[in-house]
Amino acid sequence: MNNIKLKYFSDAEDFKGNMHKMDPKLLGMLDPLRKTYGFPIIINSSYRSPDHPIEAAKDKPGEHAHGAAVDVKCVGGEATYLLVAAAIKCGFKRIGISRKSNFVHLGIGYPGAPKTTIWTY
Ligand SMILES: [Zn+2]
Repeated sequence: MNNIKLKYFSDAEDFKGNMHKMDPKLLGMLDPLRKTYGFPIIINSSYRSPDHPIEAAKDKPGEHAHGAAVDVKCVGGEATYLLVAAAIKCGFKRIGISRKSNFVHLGIGYPGAPKTTIWTY
């Protein structure tokens, strides 16, 4: 449970009512990310229950099941470059990029996960 209030993000719209299941550390990084990036940020996916089909298909539930990641909608090379640059500046060290599906995964990690990594989908 957390009582964090964000300037640019809402529980209902951005977290589908699951903001209390998000890691407070990650939540605290989102407003600075929005400011550094300088453009609106649309969150496609945040907390996912271990029963969610995407998580259930994995060997172990991933970063979203720990409330430790968001997928941000991102279309185009320049926007993706600027978002990733802003994310690195704001301290995100786990970044997944999908140009095909137009999103960037931003994570803060969980026990057992590599602390610093970047990947593509
Ligand atoms: Zn993700």
